[in-house]
Order: sequence, then structure tokens, then C-alpha cells
Amino acid sequence: MKRRTFILGAGALGTAVAATGAGVLASRPGSRLVPGKSRARSIVGDEVLPQSTEVVIIGGGFAGANAALTLAERGIPVVLCEKGVVAGEASGRSMGFMNGQFADPLKTPMILRSKELWAGMNARLGADSSFRPRGATLALADGQVDFAQAWIDRNAAFDKFDYRIVTGSELESLLPGNRNLPKAALFSPSDGAVDSSLAVPAIAEVARSRGVTLLQNCAVREVELSGGQVSGVVTEKGTIACKTVIVAGGHWTPLFMSGMGIRMPQVDVYLSQCALSAVDGPTMPYQSERYGVRIRADGTFAFGVVTVVMPIEPTVIRNLPLLGPAREAAGAMATLGLSFKDFWNDLTEDTHSIPSPYENRRILMPEVNVAPMTEGIAALAEDYPAFKDAKVIEEWAGAISSTPDNMPYITGIPSHQGLFVGSGLEAGLSWGPAVGEALADLAMGNTPQFDLANYRSDRFTDGSPIAFH
Ligand SMILES: Cc1cc2nc3c(=O)[nH]c(=O)nc-3n(C[C@H](O)[C@H](O)[C@H](O)COP(=O)(O)OP(=O)(O)OC[C@H]3O[C@@H](n4cnc5c(N)ncnc54)[C@H](O)[C@@H]3O)c2cc1C
Repeated sequence: MKRRTFILGAGALGTAVAATGAGVLASRPGSRLVPGKSRARSIVGDEVLPQSTEVVIIGGGFAGANAALTLAERGIPVVLCEKGVVAGEASGRSMGFMNGQFADPLKTPMILRSKELWAGMNARLGADSSFRPRGATLALADGQVDFAQAWIDRNAAFDKFDYRIVTGSELESLLPGNRNLPKAALFSPSDGAVDSSLAVPAIAEVARSRGVTLLQNCAVREVELSGGQVSGVVTEKGTIACKTVIVAGGHWTPLFMSGMGIRMPQVDVYLSQCALSAVDGPTMPYQSERYGVRIRADGTFAFGVVTVVMPIEPTVIRNLPLLGPAREAAGAMATLGLSFKDFWNDLTEDTHSIPSPYENRRILMPEVNVAPMTEGIAALAEDYPAFKDAKVIEEWAGAISSTPDNMPYITGIPSHQGLFVGSGLEAGLSWGPAVGEALADLAMGNTPQFDLANYRSDRFTDGSPIAFH
């Protein structure tokens, strides 16, 4: 029984590896990187590089912005360096489901903490993050109901875990107007919806108003060390002295860490989505077998299908021995893709070159894979006929980064005092607030809200058995 979720890093990974064995190397739509353009609301940052600070955060996505906000609230001086613009990469491209559907129970404490933080986010910011507590439903096929119940039972001991299976008239009341109502669905009233083009900019803006120095178009080239202790960062605009660095670099984290001789494997999948104009559609986020749809704060809809492309990057080849468990957990929702140009670029990237790879690509953006979305919209209109009149008002694609065991990194680096990493988030819109808070706790030497043992950096290199979570 495979996990079915809209965040498909896992299944994609395994399927892709299997397909690599079959030698499928042809170029496919949606496999190439194209010149990057942010879709996030642009915000004003700072221009003057401070000479020193307490904490430098690398990366202005969900992980970095939430860590910055938490540290600022605790009175810690922070500089956030973003090589492009805030939420220019994955965090501005997310579908916007805030949920924990079918996540491994190992992640449940993190997910429940994140739900709590999202629920209080608008009040905490004193501004609209775009979070809406809408609940969510995930259609269950006949064969999936027992699996879903077993998953619920495994999580039942967690306080505030509120997923349950809904059927009949209750399901009808959650999804009014659906012409092909599933027999059963997984439902949580505490799931929610977040508009990715708005949320991180709102968080970063408030963090800045609380004292964070926000430097956009400011790539960090490397971390400086003195006797094993972090002493600063070298950016393209100069050096900042600091004793603590948090790397929240999304896709770029493995490359950045490799510059310090630290191996932290991640693998990407590319996913395309679109926005549909406002019609009389479902107000609760919904994932069917064939698509996902979510109303946005302005009444339009985010839409996507359960099809991803896994780009064959050098990192896939390098980490092949780690990917066995992922292959077993694989679904058939991913196709392999290969761009020779991107592969060659990645292979020859030198983290110590100037300009650095982070300056050479300010915004990572895959091309849009249109065909599966067209089919998906037709399926949506079968369920909700009002969508026959909906217009596609935007299309975009993004890269989701995960790890070989599908657990993020939320970790210190034992060999480098003062260096912390939050990356490989997979469902980082959902988990970002808890990850950011945990990174802030680590940076301050506090005990995090949940156990981080399974999120440590060296689990792929210390001989631990690798399972898929
Ligand atoms: C199409 C799509 C749909 C998704 N749907 C969902 C969903 O519905 N629900 C959900 O929970 N998640 C979803 N996700 C996943 C989620 O968006 C990501 O997990 C999350 O955004 C990752 O956040 P991050 O902060 O780790 O990384 P990012 O958002 O990638 O941020 C990292 C930042 O670091 C910067 N950076 C990197 N290196 C440097 C450097 N050296 N110097 C300075 N800056 C640097 C980058 O420019 C980047 O902006 C989706 C993702 C995509 C692409």
C-alpha cells in the first residue's frame, strides 16, 4: 500500500530509481530548468551589510523565514541572506496544503507543533499570512480505507491528532456539489490552506519589522571557521562576523555543505501547478485520485495533479546506494527526466568558484509540464462542473527537495560548532513553522519542542540502517 499525498518526493524517488535501471534517459516535458522568475509577492529588504551579528540565516524560504521570525521574537540579532528574493524558489511555488496526511508517525510531533503554530500565525504576525483553517479531505479508494484506519490507529496516542475517516452524509456536507463523491475520505478539521506566494513574504516582512536584517540578492559563498567554531560568512557583498549560521538553503543545501566537506544527500522532484479563476467550487482543500484543488484567500483556486518528474541529477547517481528503501515505497506517479545541459552544469559546479553557483542561478525554476494539468482540469470539471468555465490564470513549476529516508534535516553539525541545518523539507509549507522554531532552539542552545534524533545530519554516513518514512 503506498502513501498517496500531493507532496510526492518519496514515490517519485523510488520510481525514478527503478526507471533509471531500465535506462530511461530521454528528455521529457517538465525536466529542464528555465530562467527563473519569482511568483512571490516582492518585499523590501535592507541594503547595508552589517559587519557582525549573532545569527546568519542562509535562505529566505519557509525554514529560514520562520527561524528568523522566532529568533527576532526572542531578541536575537539576525541577518537573513537570500541569494534571490524571499520565496523565489520552492516556498513561493507550493500548492498550499497545510496538512500531515499519511505522514510517518515519526513526524507527527513536528506536524502537530506546526499546525499549532500555523493556527496562531495571523495573530502572531499581526498581519494576514494567508493561512486559513479550512480542514481538508483526501479521497480514499476502496482498498485504502483499512490502510488509512491503521495509520490513524498508529497515531491515536498523540494528543490533538484529529484525522478520521468520513463517509456518507458527513462527507457530502464537507464536499457539497461533488458529482463523484468518493465512498470515504481522510479528514482533519485542523488542516489548513496557505497561499505560497504570500505567506513567506508576510513572515519575512514581520521578522524584519522586529529587527531582522533582510538581504536579498545576497548569496552566501561560504562559512568561515576558527578552530572548529563558526566565525562568519562570506557573502557576495562582503563578510559578516557571527558565531552561529543556519543553512536553510532548500535545493542548494547539499552543494553548500559539500563546500565544507559535509555530505547531506537530497533528491528533487519537479511538480507543475496552475491557478484557476474563481468559480463555485469546493471551499475545503480536496485531493481526489486524479488531482488536488484548494481555494485561495482571494477565491481563486490552486490546482495540481499527482504527476511529478524526477530529474536525473548527479546527486541521484551519487546517492543511488541510499535509495533502495525509497524504491520499495515507490508509486507510479513519477516519470524520469533528463536534461543533459542541467546535468552537465550540476556535475561541473564548483562551490568555491566566483561568482558562486548561488549567484549564477538566483531562482531555480523548472519548465511547466502542461499536459497532465490539462487532463487533471477535465477530471476536476467532471466532479465540479462549474470548473468547465474556469480559466487558467497562472501556471508554474517548482522543485521539491527531500532526503533518501524522506525525513528533513533539522540538525546541528557536530564537527562545526555553531552550524545548523534545516533542509530537505518535502512538505515545508506544512512543517516550516515547527522547523523554523526548532532551528531557533538549536541555535540558542534550548531544548526543541520535539525530539530531533531522527532529523540528524549524519544518519546517512554513520552506518545507521536506512528506512523510508
Ligand atoms: C510545486 C510545489 C508544490 C508544493 N506543494 C506543497 C504543499 O501543498 N504543502 C506543503 O507542505 N509543501 C508543498 N511543497 C513543498 C514546499 O514548498 C517546500 O518543502 C518548502 O517550500 C521548502 O522550504 P525551504 O525553506 O526548505 O526551501 P526554499 O523555499 O527552496 O528556500 C531556500 C532558499 O535558500 C536560498 N539559498 C540557497 N542557497 C543560498 C545561498 N548560498 N545564499 C543565499 N541564499 C541561498 C534559495 O534561493 C531559496 O530561496 C510544494 C513544493 C512545490 C515546488
